[in-house]
Amino acid sequence: MSRFWSTTTRTLQPYVPGEQPKLPNLVKLNTNENPYGPSPLALAAIHNETGDSLRLYPDPESTQLRQAIAAHFSTCFGNLEPQQVFVGNGSDEVLAHAFLALLKHDQPILFPDISYSFYPVYCRLYDVAYQTVPLDANFGIRVADYVQPNGGIIFPNPNAPTGRALPLADIEILLQANPDSVVVVDEAYIDFGGESAVTLVNRYPNLLVVQTFSKSRSLAGLRVGFAVGHPDLIDALQRVKNSFNSYPLDRLASVGATAAIADREWFEHTRQAVIRTRTTLTHELGALGFEVLPSAANFVFARHPRHDAEKSALALRQRGIIVRHFKQPRIEQFLRITIGTDEQCAALVAALREILGTLA
Ligand SMILES: *Cc1c(COP(=O)(O)O)cnc(C)c1O
Repeated sequence: MSRFWSTTTRTLQPYVPGEQPKLPNLVKLNTNENPYGPSPLALAAIHNETGDSLRLYPDPESTQLRQAIAAHFSTCFGNLEPQQVFVGNGSDEVLAHAFLALLKHDQPILFPDISYSFYPVYCRLYDVAYQTVPLDANFGIRVADYVQPNGGIIFPNPNAPTGRALPLADIEILLQANPDSVVVVDEAYIDFGGESAVTLVNRYPNLLVVQTFSKSRSLAGLRVGFAVGHPDLIDALQRVKNSFNSYPLDRLASVGATAAIADREWFEHTRQAVIRTRTTLTHELGALGFEVLPSAANFVFARHPRHDAEKSALALRQRGIIVRHFKQPRIEQFLRITIGTDEQCAALVAALREILGTLA
């Protein structure tokens, strides 16, 4: 604290990201990064762009990337125009703009009590009133609980850190029950098992779907995220963006992401590998006595009825394996474990077997 800090700064409670330790040979299963590298075509595009062009500012509208994203979804889901796409410097930035542009109203916004911990941080930053809605006993979202006056709704699907997915039919009920509120569906993990709500954007003008290149496209280091929705919603995001940073996406990020979304083959291959490993890991954790929530994401959320989660996380760390533990009511006995390669997951299971044996 310093006398130079603004009143706003004094009251902030910043988000604490999962740590990025620089230890050699670490089995890093704590921040849901993809264990497989980015598309080789994306890397080649980035290499090609590293030259004299970096002297020049990038396209402030990121037209090429927005066209590529629109084209990608048009081939799977029906027509989507570039005016229905907004891109930002990571989906965290896209979400931040959505809080200011679309979720700040008189009524409090609603999100689950167990959810992405960045949401309350943005609420405090932008002075957005919020109310949390408890997940049910099985850590599922009950849509009926969101049928009440609100200034907007936001939740991840699949939810984080539970990994549980909400069916599209439930999202549709939510949209119909809240025609006067914007519903933001944060699909950071959708490609690992859920049904994307992008198919609904042409029918619901109050729906904003946010996705990222960080997880399923293995480009967390490039910082690219996007939103898809009605042009009026996209316009609102553009107005905030152009009042904040005209060039959020640099030239390397734009060309890398454009090539990545076009490389369907790499995307399919790597996401299927993650899904297969998740099935194996879920079985193996079950055999060790863990209760594992059904996951549609690239992580699993698991608790052991007889072993303290924080102690287990610490013991794993001493063996060079890091997972995420949240010191938070309802979930303090869970570990969130990112799906790594088969080898990394085997190392995790071997370490847990040892730890559970010695701590028993
Ligand atoms: C990882 C994650 C994000 C942020 O992703 P970036 O694009 O890397 O900023 C957003 N929402 C949820 C739920 C996430 O887990």
